[in-house]
Amino acid sequence: AALAKKTEVDVKGGWKKGDPVPYAALTKTFSLIESTTKRLEKNAFLTCFLLLVIQRSEKGEYNSLLQAVYLCINRLSPDYVGVELGIGESLLVKAIAESTGRSIAVIKADLKREGDLGLVAMNSKNSQKTIFKPKPLTIPFVFSKLREIALTSGNSSQAKKVSIITKLLAACQDFEAKYIVRSLEGKLRIGNAERSVLVALAHAAVLAEKERTGKKWSNDQLTARLEKASDVIKSVYSELPTYDLVIPALLDVGIDGLQEKCKLTPGVPLKPMLAKPTKAIGEVLDRFENKQFTCEYKYDGERAQVHRLEDGTVGVFSRNSEDMSKKYPDLVNQLPHSIKESTKSFVLDAEAVAIDRATGRLMPFQELSKRKRKDVKVEDIQVRVCLFAFDLLYLNGEPLLQKPLHERRALLREHFTVVPGEFDFAKSSDSETTDEIQTFLEESVKDGCEGLMVKMLDSEASFYTPSRRSVNWLKLKKDYLAGVGDSLDLVVVGGYYGKGKRTNVYGAFLLACYDSDSEEFQTICKIGTGFSEEMLQTHYDELKPLETSKPRGDVKIGGAKPDIWFEPKVVWEVLTADLSLSPIYTAAQGLVEERGISLRFPRFIRVRDDKGADDATGPDQIAEMYERQALAQNGGKKTGGDD
Ligand code: ATP
Repeated sequence: AALAKKTEVDVKGGWKKGDPVPYAALTKTFSLIESTTKRLEKNAFLTCFLLLVIQRSEKGEYNSLLQAVYLCINRLSPDYVGVELGIGESLLVKAIAESTGRSIAVIKADLKREGDLGLVAMNSKNSQKTIFKPKPLTIPFVFSKLREIALTSGNSSQAKKVSIITKLLAACQDFEAKYIVRSLEGKLRIGNAERSVLVALAHAAVLAEKERTGKKWSNDQLTARLEKASDVIKSVYSELPTYDLVIPALLDVGIDGLQEKCKLTPGVPLKPMLAKPTKAIGEVLDRFENKQFTCEYKYDGERAQVHRLEDGTVGVFSRNSEDMSKKYPDLVNQLPHSIKESTKSFVLDAEAVAIDRATGRLMPFQELSKRKRKDVKVEDIQVRVCLFAFDLLYLNGEPLLQKPLHERRALLREHFTVVPGEFDFAKSSDSETTDEIQTFLEESVKDGCEGLMVKMLDSEASFYTPSRRSVNWLKLKKDYLAGVGDSLDLVVVGGYYGKGKRTNVYGAFLLACYDSDSEEFQTICKIGTGFSEEMLQTHYDELKPLETSKPRGDVKIGGAKPDIWFEPKVVWEVLTADLSLSPIYTAAQGLVEERGISLRFPRFIRVRDDKGADDATGPDQIAEMYERQALAQNGGKKTGGDD
């Protein structure tokens, strides 16, 4: 209460129990969070706001907290439902112009100066003289309008969107326009990642319980309880990543009953477990010495999490939790052939791989990427896929995440059958010596795979940990052995106009990694070689609509000077010969040295449309790669990296 008073998050004009949450309370919270870089303070502001929301909601009313949390992470639905924001700059400029009576040219000039359209919208609003104060905005109203905008499609949808945004902006006061515009752009940029929202939610729930029950906890008891609550919420959310279910459960049963109530559920995709790269077989043996482990083929396809509900409905989800059932209707149709009668509901972790049905040979990812991405008709399918299952996460009503891999694997093999060309188990070998692993690796490459996945097989270390890049899963790709190291997933943030024949397209690109703690894109290299004319045209067509006149505020530019900037959205997989320290680029600045790290001789591999900008490689991974390389070169460090 004291913090609320001090921060004025508890807006003037009253916000009584049962009232819709004032949008001003949320935007005030955002502006406070943005005003500090201290994590504890950010957490206190958000906790305070969420606590007020809980306290002022009637019993059994879940929407206030649910919508407040969605707006804090700037989403409108769980990922797999896919209602997305991300309105282009020109539409927003138009709406700001219409609602404030300023010209488009003036707004564009302001944008060039400020680099933040949210700020431009707020200043434009605040310099406007208004006779009547508009009716205060509420969270349910803003949320429903944002959804309406996101869901508007078809004929004259652009005009409809501009009209809704214009009306919304007309009702904004104080900070509201700034955050509505940023929400619409698709990124709030207040330095408050989803992880922090989960922690604040846990803390708010504990404080609400304390107040409701009048419990007297010592400071130590309270601290322990807050920590435990954060762990519980993070773990529950990683198993059941949908606030639509977690928040009502939290309000109903509190932290203590949450784990019992919210378990992995078929139909709700969980964030997949990921692997750490490793460069040599020796490293695998060092890591897994005296432990039981298994090597599996690392198939070169697309990750597919396959869910089957009790009623027989099948859903296929991507690495990013997007619903791919319409992309893979053939997989959905094929699946029943491999399910045994005793198998009712399940969640499989698998890789969908292109296959030549005539010869049974696996085809590379490039073949798979020729398939249409949406609304595929089974009769039109040219590239056939086979599903290679490597894990079973749920079976007949029971989550299996906390069973050792050897048990999950036994259940997988027991409950499914191989159908050649349609369904198979990932080929595995529980080999233990360097020679055996080397032979299996060579075999995997000969069979059209990228290399091996090496996984802990026994004990707690082999439990399935959703959304973690775990040391208990190592990837050993054939490329690493050639000394080039792991590939990186980088976001295209800028473009350089081409020369000669290439003047109508971008000839080179500025790439960035993503720091999920600071929510910042950090530049890492310019890439311009290895593209065919056709590829450049494709990239141009995809990137042109993302052009912006200024770099977005969350791009840490350093000394890079591209001709044009893009909304950070498109992710490319890139290989590099080498990493070096750079006075120009900002990636991983301060982690190894004050200077950033850049890639030398970067080479484009492929577009990763199964990854969002937030999934790009992080600075800590880049620093780790640099340090490994330095170690391999006996501590020798290089400098360089030019623009
Ligand atoms: P990559 O670029 O290597 O695909 P990633 O970031 O998508 O990286 P990683 O954890 O680094 O994910 O590598 C694991 C990926 O390899 C999985 O996402 C999956 O798509 C694929 N894969 C293929 N075969 C297997 C297997 N047997 N076990 C686990 N993952 C596998």
